[in-house]
Amino acid sequence: MRHGNLFVISGPSGAGKGTLVARLLREVPDAWVSRSVTTRAPREGEVDGVHYQFASAEEFQDLVDTDGLLEWATYAGNRYGTPRATVEDHMACGEQVILEIDVQGAFQVRDKMPAARLVFIEPPSLQVLEERLRGRGTESDEVIEARMKAAEVELSRKMEYDMRLVNDNLDEATDALVRYVNEQAEKARG
Ligand code: 5GP
Repeated sequence: MRHGNLFVISGPSGAGKGTLVARLLREVPDAWVSRSVTTRAPREGEVDGVHYQFASAEEFQDLVDTDGLLEWATYAGNRYGTPRATVEDHMACGEQVILEIDVQGAFQVRDKMPAARLVFIEPPSLQVLEERLRGRGTESDEVIEARMKAAEVELSRKMEYDMRLVNDNLDEATDALVRYVNEQAEKARG
């Protein structure tokens, strides 16, 4: 069994983090992904307790006040946070815990847990990113604009991450991510 480790995966909305993380979970048997709490409304097809734990503004504030979140941030007008207890439990069980969170949250995690490894997923270009966001067909122009602005802020911090990955080829990006997680987990074992 390996030691538990914490991996943070960030990158602009539309960079393909979700797909990469889903593939990582299939390839790394001891990987586990945390489910965030958010005040954002569910998108079509999203299920409470599966994609996110959807919460009211009051419920979210309660979690903040009771120190129930490892990190939290406001992103494009909604609040998102990582439940602390489940992350700690899964790390204690020796799992490779994955957080798919924004840059603000990533640096809060690094402050609290300096051993965490931070991975940034880059889209091939801002144009490709916008095409992907529009292609989803789930967001209004206004929301897409807010997300493109957030993307520029996020990209400006990519050099502070431990590793960067350009997601222009899904198979290659998956292989690189799986290799990195396994390498870091093996290092921590020794
Ligand atoms: P979306 O609304 O597209 O699901 O997520 C928007 C952004 O919030 C994404 O960059 C996503 O990674 C980030 N995010 C999701 N969950 C969390 C969380 O628990 N904490 C933080 N800080 N960001 C999160």
